[in-house]
Amino acid sequence: MSTDKKVMIVTGASRGIGAAVAMLAARRGYSVCVNYRHRRDAADEVVAAIRAEGGQAIAVAADMADEAQVVQLFQAVDRELGRVDALVNNAGVLETQMRVEDMDAARVSRILATNVVGALVCCREAVRRMAPRHGGRGGAIVNVSSVAARLGSPGEYVDYAASKGALDTLTIGLSKEVAADGIRVNAVRPGTIYTDMHASGGEPGRVDRLASSIPLQRGGTVDEVAGAVMWFFSEEAGYTTGSFIEVSGGK
Ligand code: NAP
Repeated sequence: MSTDKKVMIVTGASRGIGAAVAMLAARRGYSVCVNYRHRRDAADEVVAAIRAEGGQAIAVAADMADEAQVVQLFQAVDRELGRVDALVNNAGVLETQMRVEDMDAARVSRILATNVVGALVCCREAVRRMAPRHGGRGGAIVNVSSVAARLGSPGEYVDYAASKGALDTLTIGLSKEVAADGIRVNAVRPGTIYTDMHASGGEPGRVDRLASSIPLQRGGTVDEVAGAVMWFFSEEAGYTTGSFIEVSGGK
């Protein structure tokens, strides 16, 4: 299926923000790899919606917490779409809301494995393909962080917030490390966005509960986040690296 289109990998693209990024990227001419972990049905729906609009996409299963599966994901993209130009590290998890005094190490390790280690391994695989030193032609990476990195999520999930702080530092460090290779690395920090993620924290109605505490008085949409992610891949962002856009209604 390899063509001369630019190739983008979006991790965790079967639902929520990742699915919206995949759809928008396809509309902007990318061949898109829609990564997912469990929900093959949802990933297939995203691919079908992209193809229905005349776009190109494949669904590839890989658990970001498993290094070998991440490597296989990139190899599948090499084979089926061609060398990757753009990576969106979007897959992210949180667990039931609780205070730090009640958390165990296994829970924190699970969160870090996907949100930090998985993102770093994806960056490694992308740089190995994008850097001219490795025969690449440059590229761009966007990490989907969270305003939780700045707010800390007290009483809910400080572990998740800490993982996003680590992702922000990865963004800054890697952006400087690979700038001379023609690779830009940036991040988007969403605020409170309508997706299934809040149900994983045990509170499906969390966005509506918090709406009145958000300066713009509402939760955000996945399309509003996708627009910011895609700006970092645009020509207008050519001089922007190591930067952050907050899509948080002013929170
Ligand atoms: P979501 O609706 O819960 O969707 C999560 C997506 O990630 C799904 O596609 C899921 O795949 C995938 N995924 C989860 N763990 C994975 C793993 N280990 N390997 C591969 N894929 C995995 O989440 P969302 O709200 O769209 O969140 C997307 C990103 O935005 C996350 O990084 C999150 O931290 C960040 N964010 C969200 C909000 C918000 O308010 N929603 C705010 C700030 C930041 P399956 O369908 O196969 O399960």
